[in-house]
Amino acid sequence: MSTTIYDLHTHSTASDGTLHPAVLVQQAADQGVDVLALTDHDCTAGLAEASVASANLALRLIHGVEISVTWNQGTIHILGLKIDQGNLALQLGLQMLQAYRNERALEIAHQLQKIGIEGAFEGALCYAQGNILSRTHFARFLVEKGYAKDIQSVFKHYLVPSKPGYVASCWATLEQALAWIHNAGGISVIAHPARYKLTRKRLIQLFGEFKECGGIALEVISGHQQPEETAQLVGLARELDLFGSCGSDYHGTQNDRAHLGQISSFPVDCKPVWNLWQ
Ligand code: AMP
Ligand code: MN
Ligand code: MN
Ligand code: MN
Repeated sequence: MSTTIYDLHTHSTASDGTLHPAVLVQQAADQGVDVLALTDHDCTAGLAEASVASANLALRLIHGVEISVTWNQGTIHILGLKIDQGNLALQLGLQMLQAYRNERALEIAHQLQKIGIEGAFEGALCYAQGNILSRTHFARFLVEKGYAKDIQSVFKHYLVPSKPGYVASCWATLEQALAWIHNAGGISVIAHPARYKLTRKRLIQLFGEFKECGGIALEVISGHQQPEETAQLVGLARELDLFGSCGSDYHGTQNDRAHLGQISSFPVDCKPVWNLWQ
């Protein structure tokens, strides 16, 4: 019997991915993904198109979202899987974050203008094409204008803390994000915990607070992750009795950390989050 391939973290053009939802779903099916979650940043606008596209494919679509949270002065991401996207409180929460994204984008453009980069807001808007505005859209504009050779280096030199185009963000609280997800019937997952560069102590504090707010799972496998990071996350998931999830965090680009469905095998000593819906 072949194993089921789960990819529970991906992006489309509804946020900062480059593939339209229907194309993403088709590509996932072509790559042999059996269960795919579309988890765009702070919005669910791609789910309708993805649902239609998945109807005729041998692929199960999980409705998801990736919510931006400010925790301990840093940004973390919480995935909501199997959410009811029609839930009003969830949508009001996402609308608040979307409005904040627009304000932040103006501020980012203002900062960039101060160092002589003109037209960044309009440039980013052009890449976002009416969808969620993210730093990735600024990054694409800056690469296009020749300020850096690729997306990675543009982030490094312009868009991260202590760089000119960085704006300290004020997203949802952990409590808010979890309440929105749970209220919408969703399963909450801390996305890519190894990417926050938190000390072990802080990571345990984050997981503890998450659990206290009813948090369900950790993304123990994310894109390109070191085996020792996976081992640490699996150990902590066990200690805290949290489920585990896995996702590529695919954005449709060449330099993504992982390709669609390209996920290392799920650790045997971790409770998979999909046990909750099987
Ligand atoms: P935002 O939510 O608008 O602050 O943008 C965050 C997004 O930027 C992430 O979801 C990634 O897709 C992208 N991103 C963040 N850091 C980097 C990086 N160092 N290299 C490439 N993409 C990045
Ligand atoms: Mn992204
Ligand atoms: Mn993320
Ligand atoms: Mn993501």
